[in-house]
Amino acid sequence: MASSPTVLIRLVASAYSIAQKAGMIIRNVMAGGDLGIVEKTSSIDLQTKADRLAQMSICSSLARKFPKLTIIGEEDLPVEEVDQDLIEDGQWEEILKKPCPTQYSSIKEEDLVVWVDPVDGTKEYTEGLLDNVTVLIGIAYEGKAIAGVINQPYYNYQSSEKKLGEYNSEEKEGKDAVLGRTIWGVLGLGAFGFQLNEVPDGKHIITTTRSHSNKLVNDCISAMNPDEVLRVGGAGNKIIQLIEGKASAYVFASPGCKKWDTCAPEVILHAVGGKLTDIHGNALQYHKEVKHMNSAGVLATLRNYDYYAGCVPETVKNALVP
Ligand code: AMP
Ligand code: MG
Ligand code: MG
Repeated sequence: MASSPTVLIRLVASAYSIAQKAGMIIRNVMAGGDLGIVEKTSSIDLQTKADRLAQMSICSSLARKFPKLTIIGEEDLPVEEVDQDLIEDGQWEEILKKPCPTQYSSIKEEDLVVWVDPVDGTKEYTEGLLDNVTVLIGIAYEGKAIAGVINQPYYNYQSSEKKLGEYNSEEKEGKDAVLGRTIWGVLGLGAFGFQLNEVPDGKHIITTTRSHSNKLVNDCISAMNPDEVLRVGGAGNKIIQLIEGKASAYVFASPGCKKWDTCAPEVILHAVGGKLTDIHGNALQYHKEVKHMNSAGVLATLRNYDYYAGCVPETVKNALVP
């Protein structure tokens, strides 16, 4: 008889359902029309009602089922009783059936740190670039990102074709397309929910920030002689571009991106043989006391990491202290 699922597998199965619920909250807020935008540190650092509600939903749902977890969410919110409507209790059955990699089979709840970005790509969300948006739930053990879930609430959405209000909650877009998807992965088990694809050999397509660019970012990209540069929102979105063969490297030679932006995406990329580091080539750390900011930027590729790492100018490296 199969043994009961481990803590890690149960947590990932819950995170999957919780991320789906967060995606629905994000669609509902947009359909409601009142985004409740607040500027955090600047006009390019925003929080909306969707960020607030989705974080409350994710963190409260996780904490109810796994009270000993350390959960770190992006948004600074007042501690208050969360509405029952926001709680998700489900667990994705397909994940519960998967075997836990043996190296993680005895992990206890209190050993895990969960990094939550309730809305990644908020700036783009407010501008209607909805397919840039993701929900990120990353799980770390002993400082390393080991499991992650990415929900893309507007996958299959074509921004030019329909008005926002037509997507008030669910599911079908066009004839058969399902709106929204969830990608998940565990190191040693794999990543699921998408079709792995690669950019053709020898082609250098770089994906980078759309709304947080600066001279360092651009200097670094120029040094890599790209055939094409894609400027899109969201760390989650850019990692999806790497694993689906739309871009060959994600380059962000700047501070600004935080641990909750990279934790879940990093796992998905690593689970399929890719690599994500800071701009110096250092692995990122995710233990609970770590500094939130990825001060030395992000460099990520599915293949051919050494080419891009070898192109980073010394001036860029010297400007970015880990
Ligand atoms: P982007 O590629 O610009 O979408 O950035 C990826 C993630 O890092 C998003 O969650 C951004 O909000 C965050 N980020 C990057 N740069 C900054 C910045 N200068 N200020 C605030 N957040 C930033
Ligand atoms: Mg983010
Ligand atoms: Mg966010």
